[in-house]
Amino acid sequence: MADEAKTNFDVIVVGGGPGGYPAAIRASQLGLSVALVESEHLGGICLNWGCIPTKALLRASELRHQIAEAEEFGLTVGEVGFDLAKVVARSRKVAKRLNAGVKHLLKKNKVVVFDGFGSLVAPGRVRVEKDGAEVAQLEAANVILATGARARSLPGLEPDGERIWTYKEAMVPEALPKSLLVIGSGAIGIEFASFYHDLGVAVTVVEVVPRILPVEDEEIAAFARKQFEKQGIAIHTGTIVSALEPKDDGVLANLAPAEGESGETSQIEADRVILAVGITGNVENMGLLENGVEVDRGHIVTNEWMETACAGVYAIGDVAGPPWLAHKATHEGVLAAERIAGVEGLHPLEKSRVPGCTYCRPQIASLGLTEAAAAERGIEVRVGRFPYAGNGKAIALGETEGLVKTIFDAKTGELLGAHLIGAEVTELIQGFAIAQGLETTEAELMSTIFPHPTLSEMMHESVLDAYGRAIHI
Ligand SMILES: Cc1cc2nc3c(=O)[nH]c(=O)nc-3n(C[C@H](O)[C@H](O)[C@H](O)COP(=O)(O)OP(=O)(O)OC[C@H]3O[C@@H](n4cnc5c(N)ncnc54)[C@H](O)[C@@H]3O)c2cc1C
Repeated sequence: MADEAKTNFDVIVVGGGPGGYPAAIRASQLGLSVALVESEHLGGICLNWGCIPTKALLRASELRHQIAEAEEFGLTVGEVGFDLAKVVARSRKVAKRLNAGVKHLLKKNKVVVFDGFGSLVAPGRVRVEKDGAEVAQLEAANVILATGARARSLPGLEPDGERIWTYKEAMVPEALPKSLLVIGSGAIGIEFASFYHDLGVAVTVVEVVPRILPVEDEEIAAFARKQFEKQGIAIHTGTIVSALEPKDDGVLANLAPAEGESGETSQIEADRVILAVGITGNVENMGLLENGVEVDRGHIVTNEWMETACAGVYAIGDVAGPPWLAHKATHEGVLAAERIAGVEGLHPLEKSRVPGCTYCRPQIASLGLTEAAAAERGIEVRVGRFPYAGNGKAIALGETEGLVKTIFDAKTGELLGAHLIGAEVTELIQGFAIAQGLETTEAELMSTIFPHPTLSEMMHESVLDAYGRAIHI
């Protein structure tokens, strides 16, 4: 049984998100005594306000879209209506269920959970406060900071929680706006654009750089833009929102060309605005600077082993910087626990091997170097492409818009990158992640047997295409 009166541990984890709770469980599995301090909800942003509830929402909007297309499959359905309150309630229910699941897992693994805000009093000493009062002082040779991040705002573009939303308000709308302005076209902005558009909202996306999805391969981002515009989403790239002004029940936005871009200033009105301009780490009031933990532009600075400048203090996940993804946080959490326990043969995280997924329609998934990044490094590449329109399963599913692109080092045959857009690519990308992780050669990938009929066959064909051997194009 976990002992709630205990204050001395081998490891204290501050933050119970997808970085912190797996770190705590892994440390416990390795025989260490562990405390976890969480100030809000176990499961962090990911389970409560991020990955999971958005996917529950997107499932509803995607289903609506699919049912609207039912006739193409010979099915007869009436007009598809929806009850927004029920859509949101289901998303919250899914989040709650997972939050309870994390609580159970921590208990099962004898992790002692403290409900409160954790701060470093000294290296190896953490104060836990609740409602301004100290509830515990904990000690441990090792502290893992996993306090995550929150939405960033820009001067003049601050959320008001009513008309100008962050992802939190966007996830629990009380009513559907008629029009929506999304500022920022990274994964979070694009997922909300897709969700609201598929529910019938007039959506405009504004992005400061000259293209949407700035971290994705340019060809895939251009493909995505074409699809979104075809669906009816308005997109302005190379554009900044210079000011937001509340007006009647909506917001008036001033648009201007971004630095280095030409064009006119303009204005658009929208019922609601979602700010999706990035995130900033939760680093405040935690005794970081006082204890020598270095913070740079909102994130804790660590070395390759997630060690901060303060001995025995580690930082993982969103608070330790990009990529801001749950699976990166989890990987770092497990690695930090194993490092603390002295597990041998560990390797630091290779950020280029962290897959990224965007669950819009069509989905986007990527891994490793983009074509431009490979060129910047002076690597001679072989690029393979395979379109969804050439795949039997995709045609049977009625999902013919998509592309699988693979990038190899022309000299060594190393798989440098994989960039996918289309139905279910977020489930496919892991095949390339395993291949890259095992340092599979192009020849091994080409001789692998892929089941038929599956979307995964396009991964095979894309590799074959890089070597002039594709069968179906
Ligand atoms: C709308 C949205 C959608 C997303 N979708 C995806 C997705 O599909 N896939 C993906 O990989 N990522 C997604 N993300 C990102 C993902 O949620 C984060 O990368 C992930 O949650 C980071 O995990 P973490 O453990 O580092 O931090 P968090 O999940 O932020 O958890 C940190 C926890 O620490 C607690 N805390 C903070 N300070 C203290 C303190 N001082 N004391 C005690 N507790 C504290 C917080 O309450 C929180 O519970 C999404 C994010 C958003 C906002």
